[in-house]
Amino acid sequence: MYLVDYHIHTQRCGHASGEDREYIEAAISRGLREMGFSDHVPRFYQPKDTKTAITERGMNAEDLEGYVRAVSAYRKEYPELKIKLGLEVDFVPGWEKEIERIASMYPWDYLIGSVHFIPEWNYGYIVRETEHGPEEIYPEYFKKVAEAAESGLFDFLGHIDLPKRTFERLAPEVMAELHRELAERLGKAGAVIELNTYGIRGSKVPNAGLYPDEQLLRFCREQGVRVTLGSDAHRPQDVGADFERATELLRSVGYTEIVTFERRVAKAVSWE
Ligand SMILES: [Zn+2]
Ligand SMILES: [Zn+2]
Repeated sequence: MYLVDYHIHTQRCGHASGEDREYIEAAISRGLREMGFSDHVPRFYQPKDTKTAITERGMNAEDLEGYVRAVSAYRKEYPELKIKLGLEVDFVPGWEKEIERIASMYPWDYLIGSVHFIPEWNYGYIVRETEHGPEEIYPEYFKKVAEAAESGLFDFLGHIDLPKRTFERLAPEVMAELHRELAERLGKAGAVIELNTYGIRGSKVPNAGLYPDEQLLRFCREQGVRVTLGSDAHRPQDVGADFERATELLRSVGYTEIVTFERRVAKAVSWE
């Protein structure tokens, strides 16, 4: 099997543990063909209203260079594994130029575009939202994910239905309609999404499962949205975690290929 884990954090973001090499060694021992570090981008955005607090955490800007250098060095140290250089970048409308600047700074293999908060509301992690309920959160979150895809700034989109980590899903017919609309926009944008296993480990509701839900993934496949794989590991032992569940889902939805990236060029590979 050709499996990749493209969503891996490091200590630099301040909320992940373990040494970089432990993540690499976990990827090797799990038999992954590629792994990619994709730590949280240093905060590049400021709220328009200076009184609004930013509670999202990322790398410190001064650590970015060292991160890039370290990943490049690991490639020489571990020739048995393809190690990719990625970055998880918040999608914040209005800051596109800054994202382009970060994209041009280093030879990234890919940028993950992720929605972690709704800037019109606040700059806190969406799963801890208290002022808005799920009936507002889901449509707004999906809208931002679609806009992230349409921006063309990113190589793939992270955890596209993240709010379910905390918030119960809406009524099935409402959810189905939202899923259908999102998949259509992603398809038109030529997007790649990740199948992210973090929901299984890190959720507060019992049935969060993988990101995205099977229904959303099916609509995505129908719309020609391609897919890659990520664990969203914040601990070395989570590299490649629950990939059996992920491949089972890929198979049942009918994805025979996953997308790999090198220097921001996508390539489909048969994973089975
Ligand atoms: Zn994180
Ligand atoms: Zn994320």
